Amino acid sequence: MRGTKKDYYEILGVPRNATKEQIDAAFAKLAMKWHPDRVPPEKKEEAERKFKEISEAYSVLSDPEKRKLYDMGVDPESGMPGGGTAYDFSGMGIEEILEQIFGRNFGGFGGFGFEDIFGDVFGGRRREKAREEDLDVHVDVELSLEEIVKGTTREIRYTRRVLCPTCKGEGIVNPRTCSVCGGRGRVRQHQRTFFGVFVMERTCPNCKGTGVSGETCSTCGGKGYVEEEVEREFAIPAGVLGGQKVVYRNMGHVGRYGTGRLVIHVREKPHPKYERRDRDVIYTVEIGPARAALGGEIEITDLRGEKIRVKVPRGVQHGEIFARVEGRGIPDPKGGKGGDLLIRARIKVPTRLSREEEELYRKLLKLEGLP
Ligand SMILES: [Zn+2]
Ligand SMILES: [Zn+2]
Repeated sequence: MRGTKKDYYEILGVPRNATKEQIDAAFAKLAMKWHPDRVPPEKKEEAERKFKEISEAYSVLSDPEKRKLYDMGVDPESGMPGGGTAYDFSGMGIEEILEQIFGRNFGGFGGFGFEDIFGDVFGGRRREKAREEDLDVHVDVELSLEEIVKGTTREIRYTRRVLCPTCKGEGIVNPRTCSVCGGRGRVRQHQRTFFGVFVMERTCPNCKGTGVSGETCSTCGGKGYVEEEVEREFAIPAGVLGGQKVVYRNMGHVGRYGTGRLVIHVREKPHPKYERRDRDVIYTVEIGPARAALGGEIEITDLRGEKIRVKVPRGVQHGEIFARVEGRGIPDPKGGKGGDLLIRARIKVPTRLSREEEELYRKLLKLEGLP
């Protein structure tokens, strides 16, 4: 009756009295097999054709109305006004497609979740890639404020992975086509689920998806990499603060698809005399009562070790920041305006007096009168 029309039941491989669930499961199975993203490049064209065919069959058979018309011999395309395809899967990833078919219910049956069933299929490559990308080596260095101000170098020792010189990262020597997957890199696995038996494709455990197997490389024990000790001096530019990092490209692990970075995390040693406030540094200077009352000039040493003379105003108070020396704080490694040096007074009252001081303080006290 359908003449040259395609047999949708045959395309999906389901009986004519198939339930909706059987149709869903059959389509899911075929979609996983023929999704254009899931085939090798030379099969892409064939897959695109097949995928279109099964999508069309599914869009008709999964829709009760269309299926009825189809069973009566009406061409669902011409027989249904405005009847495009119920599902347009073109350009969708397989995961999206399956989610659309099975929806949220999919995870709810029989105690297995979407991830359990499809985890290996979908997650495998992603996880592999993430592992490949995780090639950075992280180290901590602790710097004093003097080092931060001037910049410094540090001898850093660390271990990194480099591609095995024998197998060039393959983990095997004398490679040949994998006998388990026949070189496809993927193997099929049957999985019984609520929707029937799924044929799953997963990464071949023998060749780990590469399609080749061989003898395990004895240099690296099959890991594909060997460890290398790096001992080198690294410069840390002036102005990198605690909590910031300095990154050296291509000094991290060497993977098959790239080389990671060495990330130096800077920590900051507390300083006994200087305190950092963003890029400004505060130096606390001890000032005696007479100097505090009369003011004058003092000499201090900044974090670069240079001597600076600063004016103390008359009547400076304890804890007061009384001077700011521009540009003597922490420089900005990006070339912006650096911080300043701030000077704070700590009034130091003598605890032991000479006879002369004692006399003078008594005179002062008389002048102050009773509080
Ligand atoms: Zn090796
Ligand atoms: Zn294999």
